[in-house]
Amino acid sequence: MPQGRRQLADMIRRLNTAGVDAVYVDYVFDQATDARTDADLNNALREFSGQAYLVRVLNTDFNGNRVLRGDTPLIADGVDQVALDAWVNYLGYTWYMPYAVEEDGVSLPNLPAQIAGVSGEPGEMFPITYNYELSSIPTYRLSDLMENPLRLRELAGKTVIISNSSERGIQPSNVPGHKAVPPSIISIYAAETLLAGDPHFVTGLPFILAAIAALLLAASIRQRSLRYTAYAVTSITALAAPFISAHFDVRISIAYALSVLLVYGLFRLRASWRENLRMVDSVTGLPTFAALEADRVVADTVPAIIVARIHRFEEVRRTLADELHAAYLQAIAARLKAATQDATIYIGQGHLIAWTMREKEPALLREHLEGLRALFSSPLVVGDQQVDVGITFGIDISPSPNVVRRLAAAVAVAEKTTETFEPIAVADSASQEDLIWNISLQARIDAALTNGEIYLAFQPKIMVQTGEIIGAEALVRWKDPVKGHIPPDNFIRQCETAGRMSQLTRFVLEEACKAGNMFAAEGLNLPIAVNISATLLHERGIVTMVRDVLAESGFEPRRLTLEITETYRISNLDLAADILGELSALGAKISMDDFGVGAASLEALLKLPFSELKIDRMFIAPMTSDPKAHGIVKSVLQMGRDLRIIVVAEGVEDAGTLTLLRDSGCLVAQGFAISRPVTFDKILDFHRSSRIEKLTNIV
Ligand code: C2E
Ligand code: CA
Ligand code: CA
Repeated sequence: MPQGRRQLADMIRRLNTAGVDAVYVDYVFDQATDARTDADLNNALREFSGQAYLVRVLNTDFNGNRVLRGDTPLIADGVDQVALDAWVNYLGYTWYMPYAVEEDGVSLPNLPAQIAGVSGEPGEMFPITYNYELSSIPTYRLSDLMENPLRLRELAGKTVIISNSSERGIQPSNVPGHKAVPPSIISIYAAETLLAGDPHFVTGLPFILAAIAALLLAASIRQRSLRYTAYAVTSITALAAPFISAHFDVRISIAYALSVLLVYGLFRLRASWRENLRMVDSVTGLPTFAALEADRVVADTVPAIIVARIHRFEEVRRTLADELHAAYLQAIAARLKAATQDATIYIGQGHLIAWTMREKEPALLREHLEGLRALFSSPLVVGDQQVDVGITFGIDISPSPNVVRRLAAAVAVAEKTTETFEPIAVADSASQEDLIWNISLQARIDAALTNGEIYLAFQPKIMVQTGEIIGAEALVRWKDPVKGHIPPDNFIRQCETAGRMSQLTRFVLEEACKAGNMFAAEGLNLPIAVNISATLLHERGIVTMVRDVLAESGFEPRRLTLEITETYRISNLDLAADILGELSALGAKISMDDFGVGAASLEALLKLPFSELKIDRMFIAPMTSDPKAHGIVKSVLQMGRDLRIIVVAEGVEDAGTLTLLRDSGCLVAQGFAISRPVTFDKILDFHRSSRIEKLTNIV
């Protein structure tokens, strides 16, 4: 409307008179009205003695193109122009503005940049700070100024932006704390930001790094409640940081940091969800052993841990239809529950079920569990099938807070129980230590064999009459860097269960033959005895092994004695006889170790081709005090003479026993009274000194 333009021309002239520095007309007159009015406005602008600008607004047209709307040439001709490109986001806020806008290859300064007198490339952005109050920006109504010309004086030396706040179609902007302010206000904030100089603006990266560092720090806190507090503090700080920092004129972009927090949160959620999966048995929906292990209350109150072992579990399960598997376990759990004062029932691998009880008195526990067993003597009904359930129990009542270890101990004893012989067993804490140790031991045997922790000691066998050394038994030794010396009795069983017996035996054979060769090099043609576990006589591999080691070492076969230990464990005497036949055909001597211990000693002696017999120390040690032991030894010695095989007395612990053996006609002896198992060098010393002894005897 021409009237508005006339008023505006009038006002510009008045502002000029009032001594205003610069005037910006933030309004686009794109239509011409009557020519005189428009030319008059043009004149007013051109005659302005300070700086007068027309603001051209960047809009998006219907095709999505960005166009700079300009004024009709009648008004615009010869008047300086600036652009206004405000980046209003979808929430109505403007955080950034460009320094300049480009049109047809020409750079037009953006309104705030022009006010601040700062220049920049088109497209180059600067952030806007809103850290002072809206009310501190003076605004005037055109009509007020017309009515009170005196107020115009306040504007002397100032920069004035004229805009039409009631213009329809102009999208109002927000500033923090205020909604829908006239868009020119944003330009003023932007200009002030530029005038304030280098804005302190923290972009995403340092803030993300800080957020990640804080999260890592929080995650490393062990105590759960403290850790969660740290997470909360981190999140709240991340959210509050922009507001707090704004006070110090520092702007922080939090979007990235928030996404880091969010992603981290999602990962934690997933981890705890998976943890939950591990804690719950998928078939029955009951908690698992992992849940019991993680239970803080159990760790703190240290109740008895009961592990029930379901016998023939797999067999029964296989006879049931798939959909009945869960019902089967649930039926067992339900019956247990009825008798366990509604304790939480935990499901272990397949056939194991655990719960805890406050009662820790073994006698009372046994009584209770006997009752449970009785309860299980009537069959369960699963589907339309009747199922017999055999159940036995392992108990741990040790006072340790280590639930993992206690559960393992209860499981271990439960696994050893039998329905008929020992249906209820209590783990003792000493054997727990062994259990843990043994588990790690199996894994370490291989390494120990190669790194020299396992080596041989030798114990002399002597002629009782002369004291002359006539052989040496190789005994395996293990010196663990942490545990110290581990007695062979302790780890040989482990080697067996871990399937390492062949490796160990081969190692001992090789080392023994090597030592035998070295003795020979020192002028001592000593027979060497190696212990062979009876379990190795279940297959022919041992024959090949002995043949190979003899061939590789070049050790004389007739100087090798194989002491077969634990002969009572031979299950197939015919096969063992074959194998031993082949071994003696190689030239080795076969000795029966530990004679008299275990069942079937005589049967083994009868059927197997032994050329030597070692009376176990169980009979030798008490010989001097126990006439019965003495009698047995004497008759075994007699038996040896009749069978024409050598009898060796092992475990001779004192001189009295040695004398008694000599008087009983024993030819060969071995034991602490003569020498403990010693190193290779000590055997050589022993050999030399016993010779000297002999010489002195003669003299
Ligand atoms: P063993 O074959 O009966 O070996 C003799 C054991 O009695 C050795 O124990 C030896 O130190 C001990 N001993 C010797 N003299 C006396 C004595 O006067 N009094 C007492 N109380 N003990 C005496 P070590 O070395 O602990 O070996 C124990 C068992 O381990 C051996 O009994 C043998 O069955 C087995 N063993 C040792 N080395 C090997 C091996 O290389 N292979 C196999 N398969 N078994 C081995
Ligand atoms: Ca032996
Ligand atoms: Ca023995």
